[in-house]
Amino acid sequence: MAHDADSASPPEARIRGWHAHVYFDANTLEHARSLCEEAARLFAVKMGRVHEQIVGPHPAWSCQLALRPAVFAQLIPWLTLHRQGLSIFVHPITGDDLVDHRDHGSWLGQSMTLNLGVFDGLPPTHFEL
Ligand code: ZN
Repeated sequence: MAHDADSASPPEARIRGWHAHVYFDANTLEHARSLCEEAARLFAVKMGRVHEQIVGPHPAWSCQLALRPAVFAQLIPWLTLHRQGLSIFVHPITGDDLVDHRDHGSWLGQSMTLNLGVFDGLPPTHFEL
């Protein structure tokens, strides 16, 4: 059986933080904005820009919430109960953006298809927590 250098610690120890991407459209923009603002007010969460355009791998307009691992257990249950129909994509930050988005993401609400092609030719990680 093969052992690699990381076998002493579980793979989840590589998770440096999480993103929760809240998706919306013109009809749900204000709801999404207030959801993100409230999350940033209640928890140790860094709210990103409210993008009224497609950015990165995201399939819809989006706003990013960035959080440390310890905040996950507070934020995700709160989003689950307050998202009011919005789709939210949650992924870890381990240092490999493609794998984090393609293999390790989870959805609150309706899932959508990410544009993973944006990672072609990029260094393994370019997202800041
Ligand atoms: Zn992200």
